[in-house]
Amino acid sequence: MVSEEKHSVRNSILGTVISGLLLAFLLWLIPGLWVWLVSAIGHLVGFLISQVTVPVWLVGIMILAIIPTIIMVVLLIVASFRRPTEPTWLDYTTDRFDGMTWRWKYINNGVSNLGCFCPYDDTRLIYVRGYENTSLHCETCKAKFGPFDGDIDYIHAKIERQIERKVRKDEWKKVVSKEKVT
Ligand SMILES: [Zn+2]
Repeated sequence: MVSEEKHSVRNSILGTVISGLLLAFLLWLIPGLWVWLVSAIGHLVGFLISQVTVPVWLVGIMILAIIPTIIMVVLLIVASFRRPTEPTWLDYTTDRFDGMTWRWKYINNGVSNLGCFCPYDDTRLIYVRGYENTSLHCETCKAKFGPFDGDIDYIHAKIERQIERKVRKDEWKKVVSKEKVT
């Protein structure tokens, strides 16, 4: 990486030196080129600093044309700094189901990374598989939840269906607004 950077610096220095030499060679090769180059640059500078007479009405039109552009630029800057204050369903990423705290993310508009946490101390719960059911335990406060029917995949699918229902029926808004208050 470092040697590559050194090479690129060396190459750019070499490039500058070679193009400088090439320009000097061209100037020597073609007599009068140097004089022409100096006079061309002189003409350009003279043109750029020359003054023109413009009627007042034209200046007025130019100013009027610039004002909407300035207003648009200012509005765009203000809009880019302002965050949308209204929450969307994508802000609904936690809720209580079966007495436990559940958290998730959305990937491709679907529930993902669903996790279950203790409602008392927020420790991630451990799944304990029973006979045709599953319990959830907290290592910190020893709280137990369940048993619930099925394995953990079945429980996750059940919770995901509840989340989808709340999103579809706009019930997530109550949960998100409650979170904002607390
Ligand atoms: Zn706990």
